[in-house]
Amino acid sequence: MPNNQQSDRRVAVIAIGGNSLVKDKAHRTVEDQYQAAGETAYHIAQMIKSGWDVAIGHGNGPQVGFILRRSELARHELHEVPLDVCGADTQGAIGYALQQNLYNHFLNMGINKPIATVVTQVEVDRNDPAFQNPTKPIGTFMDEPEALRRKRDEDWDVVEDAGRGWRRVVPSPLPVRVVELNAVKKLIDDGVVVITVGGGGIPVVADDAGHLKGIAAVIDKDFASGLLANSINADLYLISTAVEKGALNFGTPDETWVDHMTLSEAKGYLEEGIHFKKGSMAPKMQAVIWFLENGGKEAIITDPGNIERALAGETGTRITPD
Ligand code: ADP
Ligand code: MG
Repeated sequence: MPNNQQSDRRVAVIAIGGNSLVKDKAHRTVEDQYQAAGETAYHIAQMIKSGWDVAIGHGNGPQVGFILRRSELARHELHEVPLDVCGADTQGAIGYALQQNLYNHFLNMGINKPIATVVTQVEVDRNDPAFQNPTKPIGTFMDEPEALRRKRDEDWDVVEDAGRGWRRVVPSPLPVRVVELNAVKKLIDDGVVVITVGGGGIPVVADDAGHLKGIAAVIDKDFASGLLANSINADLYLISTAVEKGALNFGTPDETWVDHMTLSEAKGYLEEGIHFKKGSMAPKMQAVIWFLENGGKEAIITDPGNIERALAGETGTRITPD
């Protein structure tokens, strides 16, 4: 019987953060990343063993940085790699690390489930206001002449970064549509563990005729995974990051770790602007809010080692509709 006809089926989208792949600066080789992916994959495998069907999204910031740097160092000899292609390359490489680790854990645990990575494009609106205001720094620091040359010759947006040098910045538009959604849905309905929307998806825009084209932009992976969760009607949006729970007044003497928030409470805290740091926890809370506002039933934020306990209600921050 096809998996989608089982009434007790529970589907989760898991967004795994940078800490699931690069622990720190001393552990970022391909082998280190493989080991780190293996740890997170173990907990995801346990979750699958307990009956969940999952689609996995992941970050790719450091990995794209490595490709850009290599490409830059080699440019006297080889063409540079455009940002959308860095996205595709990292989806493949990270997907490979995850799917092999999952495969091996499944073998040890007696789980019989296929696993596949889908190179995934995510459409953004070419009129998204983010295009007027590129904010996301990428690649290595440059000196001023180099920055101005790239701006002139390659149409880069560059900014001076607090005395540390110049950097390229790209827009961070909102995800609108997962282009490969129907393929992803079919795989999930067939019981395949799918790795998709890696790095927030490869950002593409459509022209008037609907034809797609990759662009130099970065989509927030928490937003893209949340969009995926809504698009497949997931029962749960699980964000696996570096902290066991979300906190109020994070990083202050009044820091308070939170077990549960309603949607309204989460919106109130996010609006206050003091609890969740910009660029790290704030986008996760925003992603969770959009997921719940668009019909999602439950979201959890925790770290990889606590996934099973968080699912059992023992830890993590759970956010639910009012
Ligand atoms: P990821 O790679 O998973 O997206 P981020 O570094 O972007 O990870 O976000 C997770 C980090 O957010 C945590 O490690 C923590 O340092 C930081 N953070 C900011 N605000 C909060 C908060 N209110 N509660 C918990 N962690 C927070
Ligand atoms: Mg992040």
